[in-house]
Amino acid sequence: MQQDFYKDLLDNLYDGVYFVDSTLTITYWNKGAERISGFSAAEVMARRCADNLLMHVDDAGVQLCVCGCPLAGTLADGQMREAEVYLHHKDGHRVPVSVRVTPLRDDAGRIIGAVEIFTDSSVKREIMSEINELKNLTLVDPLTGLGNRRAAAIDFEHKSKALRHYKTPFGMLFVDIDNFKEVNDTYGHEIGDRILDMVGKTLTGALRGKDKVNRWGGEEFVALVTNVDAKMFHAIAERMRRLVESSALPMPGGMLQVTVSLGGSLAQDTDTLESLIKRTDELMYRSKGAGRNCTSLDCS
Ligand code: GH3
Ligand code: MG
Ligand code: MG
Repeated sequence: MQQDFYKDLLDNLYDGVYFVDSTLTITYWNKGAERISGFSAAEVMARRCADNLLMHVDDAGVQLCVCGCPLAGTLADGQMREAEVYLHHKDGHRVPVSVRVTPLRDDAGRIIGAVEIFTDSSVKREIMSEINELKNLTLVDPLTGLGNRRAAAIDFEHKSKALRHYKTPFGMLFVDIDNFKEVNDTYGHEIGDRILDMVGKTLTGALRGKDKVNRWGGEEFVALVTNVDAKMFHAIAERMRRLVESSALPMPGGMLQVTVSLGGSLAQDTDTLESLIKRTDELMYRSKGAGRNCTSLDCS
């Protein structure tokens, strides 16, 4: 009676569930497994799952039956396993599934088989790709492909936390293209856009490791540079300035070049995004006042 209850429960689970014995021969196959794989219980019972049935492959297309079968692994070491694999549907196509394998033991604790539970993960994937698309829409500047102002704010929150908790220093560089209005007025907005892209890429290339440049707006960029002391911070700011100065957009009549003015400050524990932007923006204006194409840093 109780056994029937559990069988009904397993049969009607939405997930695919099947049992194998110690020779990897299938001894149970529920309705969920039929639905996801297309194989009926009658077609798979008493067969080995590697015998032209599910034939799991991983992302790289490696046949797991031959090398790295999660069921075989669990039978051998008694450990639970989780994997993202692709099973072979009866109609021939591959179905992405999340797989969980648990050992089955007898009363004496000996491993006598394993149970695999698998869930169709295509829905999960669709959701993940939609989330990524939304993230792109909300955090990426479409013109340059850099992070936008919102991305800069998130970057600031992470780095500010690391500064307060682990004393990991960081600095902000505020970069503004010099006389950019003139570029637009002389060559047109489209060329202006290409200059913005060129400057964004050059600034990004001047940074090391995981640090990123974000487009703050218009012809202004913001970079948060981690783990710097005053000397390194200065070197990075100067590298950015010089690399932009030596970049050139190929044009029919020759090369088009621009320069940037920078302001930079190391962050304090008490800084907010607004206070740091205000300080670096003011320092950037000091560079404008000093004739443009230069850097003004405050490393106190
Ligand atoms: P300064 O050296 O003092 O910074 O002079 P500037 O001309 O760069 O500064 P200003 O603020 O007067 O002009 C900024 C220009 O940037 C004006 C605007 O048309 C242009 N701009 C802002 N966003 C974009 C954009 O997305 N594409 C293009 N092509 N131009 C933009
Ligand atoms: Mg500006
Ligand atoms: Mg400008």
